[in-house]
Amino acid sequence: MTPFACGLDITASGALVLPFFSSFEFGVVSQFAGLPRANTHLSRAEEPYPEVVPQPLTEVRRRTWNQEVLDLNLEGRAAIVAAHPDDETIGAGACMTRFSEVTLIHITDGAPRDLKDAALHGFSEREEYAAARRRELLNALQAGGIGAARTIALGCADQEASLNLVEIAEALSHLLHCLTVDVVLTHPYEGGHPDHDAAAFAVHAACRLLPSERRPPIVEFASYHGRDGGMQTGVFLPNHGTAEMIYTLDSEERARKQRMIDCFATQQRVLEPFQTLEERFRPAPSYDFDLPPHEGELFYEQFPWGMTGDRWRTLARTAREQLERC
Ligand SMILES: [Zn+2]
Repeated sequence: MTPFACGLDITASGALVLPFFSSFEFGVVSQFAGLPRANTHLSRAEEPYPEVVPQPLTEVRRRTWNQEVLDLNLEGRAAIVAAHPDDETIGAGACMTRFSEVTLIHITDGAPRDLKDAALHGFSEREEYAAARRRELLNALQAGGIGAARTIALGCADQEASLNLVEIAEALSHLLHCLTVDVVLTHPYEGGHPDHDAAAFAVHAACRLLPSERRPPIVEFASYHGRDGGMQTGVFLPNHGTAEMIYTLDSEERARKQRMIDCFATQQRVLEPFQTLEERFRPAPSYDFDLPPHEGELFYEQFPWGMTGDRWRTLARTAREQLERC
């Protein structure tokens, strides 16, 4: 590992886009310094939203935590590692206001190299679609009362995170080292989307690369996975026996989260199955990424993305071996 030189040129209100595999090379954090901020027209919400004042956590605990008290840190400084712009909202849109400081790290820009999705929304270039998705994200954060959240985009193409596990893990490791967060939130390993599973792998691998005293606890937010041929949203696969927190949203929080979801104009059809009643969190299980997340067909294997569970696990195993040699 290269010695850390924490020259992150980002502020609490900063937005930083790291072009994946172009001018940016993973491995030295100081290379983040001096990179241009995201275009200002993408860094500002288009409309002002009322300021959100989160309730004191003690009251929230009394009102809504309906599982035994767990040692989950949903306060302090958090990094949220999401595969796509919108995953943070469906997973933790309401609870993000709990943290004193939030850094959102998006692994992909939400735009597949295959231009089918882009064309569906009237974009002829992948970059235009990615810019629209980033604009939607920034508007959603503003709508959610967390417009001041720091945002970092690694810029990997949608559906390609699992092809770049080593680079992503190393980048995350450097970022987490520099950010010194109290907790890192990410996806569970569930076979819902190969990029989600890649995020889970990369966060676990990134934390292993950190010195133990700088290693934040990993907490998962619920995403989605396959069940009975369909998609189950908002809950975890039950096969890890890990206790979870269920945060029940009040009416104001539900309305606020819905406003966030509404900002993702290009994703409305995809986001239809997601509810705003509750958010679920749990300490990340200790995964064996050599094993499938569950028996049977994985949800993403239904789609012609060129990714199967077998191929994903081969990529993960190769990446793990490579990272262990670092
Ligand atoms: Zn996603």
